[in-house]
Amino acid sequence: MSNNILQKYMQKMEGLRGGEKASEGPAPHRPLLLLAVIDLIRQGQIDKNKIFPSPDLAEMFLKYWSKVVTNRTHNFAMPFFHLQGRKKGRFWHLHPNAGKEEKLKVTRKIRKVSDLLEIVNHASLDTEFFVLLTNPQSREVIRQTLINKHFPDSKSVIESIFVEEQQIGEHGQLLIQEVTEYPFSYQVVPESTKKENRIGNAAFRREIMRLYNYTCAICRLRIVTMDGESATEAAHIIPWRIAHNNDIRNGISLCKLHHWAFDRGLISLSNTYKVLVSPLMSDRQPTEWLLTEQRDKSILLPEQDLHHPAPNALKWHRKEVFRE
Ligand SMILES: [Zn+2]
Repeated sequence: MSNNILQKYMQKMEGLRGGEKASEGPAPHRPLLLLAVIDLIRQGQIDKNKIFPSPDLAEMFLKYWSKVVTNRTHNFAMPFFHLQGRKKGRFWHLHPNAGKEEKLKVTRKIRKVSDLLEIVNHASLDTEFFVLLTNPQSREVIRQTLINKHFPDSKSVIESIFVEEQQIGEHGQLLIQEVTEYPFSYQVVPESTKKENRIGNAAFRREIMRLYNYTCAICRLRIVTMDGESATEAAHIIPWRIAHNNDIRNGISLCKLHHWAFDRGLISLSNTYKVLVSPLMSDRQPTEWLLTEQRDKSILLPEQDLHHPAPNALKWHRKEVFRE
């Protein structure tokens, strides 16, 4: 890759503006979104030149946003749409959903995430820019250019997020790797330092959310608001407070209601991954139907058998938590 190309994109990074008009001055949205994209490329979550407005990207953007910017409201849809900018010098290209080609052409402003998801399928970068970002050295040059130009006062905050993300990513890879190396064991894992716990739990949550695509395994509810709120949570089958075990086979993605019911033993899972409902729940009250209607239904499972909840962990849950 020639230095000229790198220079060209460094200049584009320095030239990023906030609003559509020069008078709107600098704003952090676009450079922060690019920092988030860069992080996901580094993690391998974006490995093709297709950038989807995904929960992963929203979460990363908001992680930067909440630490770097505090005095303005955030919105992930705006920079995703407006990074496209004017035709001249454009490096971020939007691709419409089927049937929305005309609508994308005439749309000048997007403020809401729902509007973005309706019209835009994904964004792509200039091919040569994407190649730059897949190379660790030039990626770092671009990243530093963004930080030096747009966030000179927040360097240490951004670096700490960057390092923490690297640790979460590496820990997540270990979690995914260890299922291929040894069988699940429900031994209690010794507790680590607070920081290690934070990294470990964040990695566990992220991998479980990805394996289940942010969907409740029991009711298939999937609500991701793109402001970092997901209705689904990564539940430990043998609770964290008991075993400190972040093996992904000790995990399952559940909505808040089913997570609560699972932790309290009102529901459990059979060895064939069917929903068991405690006899304490009756069918008389409509509010209890939310649990009883799931009885005997098969749950949603990750694609690969290796990532399914461990039968040992479920057995433990039926014995120790489930209220038969
Ligand atoms: Zn649910």
